[in-house]
Amino acid sequence: MPAIALIGLYLLVVFAPLGLAVAGGWPPRPVLDELAAGAGLVAFAILLAEFLLSGRFRAVSGRVGMDVTMRFHQLLARTALALAVVHPFLYTLPFNRPLPYDPTRQLTLTFEGEGLVTGVLAFLLLPSLVILSIGRDKLPFRYETWRFLHGMGALAVAGLVYLHAVEAGRYSQDWMLRWFWSGLLGLAVVSLLVVYVVKPLLQLRRKWHVSAVRQVAERTWELAIAPDGHEGLDYRAGQFVWLNVGHSPFSLNENPFSICSAPGDGREVRFLIKELGDFTSSLSRVRTGTQVHLDGPHGHLTLEGRAAPGIAFIAGGVGIAPMFSLLGQLVLEADTRPTVLVYGNRAADQIALGDKLARLRRVHKTQVVQVLSDPPADWSGEVGIIDAARIRALFGEEQYRDWLFVLCGPPAMMEIVEDTLIGIGVAPRNILAERFHYD
Ligand SMILES: Cc1cc2nc3c(=O)[nH]c(=O)nc-3n(C[C@H](O)[C@H](O)[C@H](O)COP(=O)(O)OP(=O)(O)OC[C@H]3O[C@@H](n4cnc5c(N)ncnc54)[C@H](O)[C@@H]3O)c2cc1C
Repeated sequence: MPAIALIGLYLLVVFAPLGLAVAGGWPPRPVLDELAAGAGLVAFAILLAEFLLSGRFRAVSGRVGMDVTMRFHQLLARTALALAVVHPFLYTLPFNRPLPYDPTRQLTLTFEGEGLVTGVLAFLLLPSLVILSIGRDKLPFRYETWRFLHGMGALAVAGLVYLHAVEAGRYSQDWMLRWFWSGLLGLAVVSLLVVYVVKPLLQLRRKWHVSAVRQVAERTWELAIAPDGHEGLDYRAGQFVWLNVGHSPFSLNENPFSICSAPGDGREVRFLIKELGDFTSSLSRVRTGTQVHLDGPHGHLTLEGRAAPGIAFIAGGVGIAPMFSLLGQLVLEADTRPTVLVYGNRAADQIALGDKLARLRRVHKTQVVQVLSDPPADWSGEVGIIDAARIRALFGEEQYRDWLFVLCGPPAMMEIVEDTLIGIGVAPRNILAERFHYD
């Protein structure tokens, strides 16, 4: 779905409860009370829409990219939290049982029993969920444990807020809004079921196995997988998948990795993986034949429909993985556009697949600029880091105006390069970026 249509649809979903509340024809209340109700309604709609944003649905993240979708997911969660926090404090009407002379509850709020308990529980749980996500890296448990708790916690908050809205909410008494909440909550539950039940079931029918694993640089491995009796993966160069090596497809043990092979290479799919945590540090123990499941392809770091007269690839560390895929496909398609690959590392033994780099130079005439911050004595490449000065020195006016810039690497490098390119005047539509971290 085009990004603009997606944003329009999102705004429609999030603000629909306000429209439905007005359509209910309730008599007006003091402004602060209406603001309180509005904050609660919008916060709940944002919360339910979060399930769809984080569900890895290609219709949602296919155009804008998974990293942008996840960034929105995080920002919107904080927005929902802010609205939820002010929601109870803006009310000026008495929290009381309905008065006999006030059947429309214009002058009182029914806020007791289930309505109170569910509201208070959700009020406590939602901040915990957001704070635990912000500080996730500092938690003493594994990413998979956090992910499970996050999903279950979000579902619990959604259920509690639903009960709170239909028990204590004034506008949610109306059948239109009730149906709206039920429909959106249903969609949220379905999106969880799709991710955790339907997709794993489909993966069972399309198994893969490890066909090769070898170390290709310091703490960096190349992992190859091959399909078990099916035609393989229909992907575009530069995309990524969630890879589950050696676990049941229903387990949460899966990690996102960019594909480093090119679609035209054949049915085997290869990855370049840097040791970081528990799974990536276990690659030395992975044996050929180990069963693999994958969810994908995902990602928008592709050259499809990009007619730029030249392409600059700027990679830091293992961010080189999707660049190999993109350049590999250009070679296979005998694409004659000029290409420059800027590849930064700390030390020489971190340079992955040096033979491929040499081949790109030789066969495709790619200008490969290697940058090391801690080079050996006999180093003939560039010394330092990929920063603003280097980017300014490497390219000319024509390239900044017309070329496509493809970026992937550590967050700090991405930020500097992106800011520099935009500062120089490169059009944002000519910058493609993939982030390996969603925080
Ligand atoms: C789109 C994308 C493409 C990537 N491509 C590559 C690649 O080609 N090569 C490479 O070496 N690394 C890549 N990464 C990073 C890689 O996913 C992490 O290094 C890896 O998941 C770490 O797993 P672990 O079990 O070793 O460490 P853990 O300690 O479990 O995780 C370390 C960090 O990795 C991230 N992470 C772990 N699991 C997931 C998950 N299921 N979903 C999202 N983030 C997760 C989290 O930020 C976590 O804090 C990519 C990441 C993304 C988002």
